[in-house]
Amino acid sequence: MVILLMGPPGAGKGTQAVSMVKKFGIPQISTGDMFRAAIGQGTELGKKAKACIDAGQLVPDEITIGIVKERLAQDDCKKGFLLDGFPRTTEQAEALETILKEIGQELTCALNIAVPKELLVERAVGRRVCRKCGASFHVEFNPSKAEGVCDECGGELYQRADDTRETMENRLSVYEASTQPLIDFYEAKGKCVAVDGDQAIDKVFADIVKALEA
Ligand code: ADP
Ligand code: AMP
Repeated sequence: MVILLMGPPGAGKGTQAVSMVKKFGIPQISTGDMFRAAIGQGTELGKKAKACIDAGQLVPDEITIGIVKERLAQDDCKKGFLLDGFPRTTEQAEALETILKEIGQELTCALNIAVPKELLVERAVGRRVCRKCGASFHVEFNPSKAEGVCDECGGELYQRADDTRETMENRLSVYEASTQPLIDFYEAKGKCVAVDGDQAIDKVFADIVKALEA
């Protein structure tokens, strides 16, 4: 099972990924989480990615494709995986086709979590993320049980540096220009399924499960 989680920043990809990993037993591969981990560790990759992420721009394709290719070659991806936030450009989508051929896997479905644009900024600025496991919460829409503490693993919650109103404007423009066109790319292949992301988190998940079992 190879699933792509698509949709604008703040659509709920990471939130749904946590439930999908539990239900389907495949790993979540989030390029955003991989970059944030590299920044936290102060690696060369982290240094290269930080300026792009802080500005709300994409990390260059050659870097992003390189880390995904390396990650998908690992053993835990043999039975499939859930890509969260990749691909984001046509070049990445084409590279993914090649990687899938090389590892002998086929795309099951590209899930497009659709949310009206005017809701996305509020979702991002209220987002709190676990430093340890990457789970997402929202101060108002999806609060953790104890303030500042992750429900999943007990890790510390923090606010992402790029979850500001200003950076979100850039991220949404970048999404519209570079990533939204990929919906057509996967629709042309008959692989795209739209899910209404403007519903309660559990309801979105139920729709995802229905779509994947159809
Ligand atoms: P993405 O990974 O697509 O950027 P997240 O899953 O991190 O998005 O969700 C963005 C924010 O919106 C988080 O604070 C999350 O708790 C909240 N959120 C996710 N899904 C919903 C939903 N269906 N309704 C309201 N808020 C949501
Ligand atoms: P996310 O966690 O998916 O919201 O991603 C946070 C940031 O990481 C994005 O705004 C980009 O700067 C960078 N990023 C994540 N995934 C990609 C990707 N596939 N291509 C380029 N940049 C990415």
